[in-house]
Amino acid sequence: MRNIQHKLLLLLAIIPFILIVCCGQRHQQANASDGIASGNQENGNPPAQDTIPADSLAGKDYLLGRFNPAQHPKFRRIDAKYTTIAEGYLRREALDAFVSMHRDAKKDGITLKIVSATRNFNAQKGIWEAKWLGSRKVEGIDLTTVQDPVERASIILKYSSMPGTSRHHWGTDLDINSVDPEYFKTSKGIREYKWLAANAHKYGFCQTYTPKDSLRPTGYEEEPWHWSYTPVSSTLLKRYLASITYNDIKGFKGDQTAEPLNVIRDYVKGINRNCH
Ligand SMILES: [Zn+2]
Repeated sequence: MRNIQHKLLLLLAIIPFILIVCCGQRHQQANASDGIASGNQENGNPPAQDTIPADSLAGKDYLLGRFNPAQHPKFRRIDAKYTTIAEGYLRREALDAFVSMHRDAKKDGITLKIVSATRNFNAQKGIWEAKWLGSRKVEGIDLTTVQDPVERASIILKYSSMPGTSRHHWGTDLDINSVDPEYFKTSKGIREYKWLAANAHKYGFCQTYTPKDSLRPTGYEEEPWHWSYTPVSSTLLKRYLASITYNDIKGFKGDQTAEPLNVIRDYVKGINRNCH
């Protein structure tokens, strides 16, 4: 009997220790899982407001302009004092560089205004199809009178990109002050262009479409208004050339002409070599 009493006393004595050890282990397990969760957040998980996966910045949808810049975390709306566009967007890096350039140009008596910025796939499709279907004339011509689709596309390609091949949807490229070649023959246009030619490179901008010559034998006609923020666009061009094929350039009227016209080789790559 004394032996049984002794065993019971011993059991009662060790119960608190069993409870301490078990609960302690459970508590440690709870701490461990909390630790993993907070560790992941600290180790580079995107913040909650960044709803677009980080790899989409290098993905085909971004390279082809199939996104909405108003909802893209890397894009910023352009303040009205820098643009004539009602609601314009650029990638943050390009906009910051433009703001610096705008400020310094102002000191020299030059006013720079963005007249076109990010145009995504759908915006470019609207421009392209208006020309393709004749609702917007090109150099006074209704292009529905041009029967051969390759010839019709090549006329549009003098100044307008095929949807999915434009640099404007990258958010790195912008048109300054006018898109009319005649404007840049006026004394005001000449003065503004001279300032950009001498200074834009200091802010990371490069004139993408210089006059066509032996160094730039293919691509769009000369565009004194079009400037590209190369610290970002040169990387995007490399990614585009490495991953986009003619199977990706689809979804608009006349898309079958992209391959016969070699738009990737002759237009996407057909830029000022200094902008690569
Ligand atoms: Zn442009």
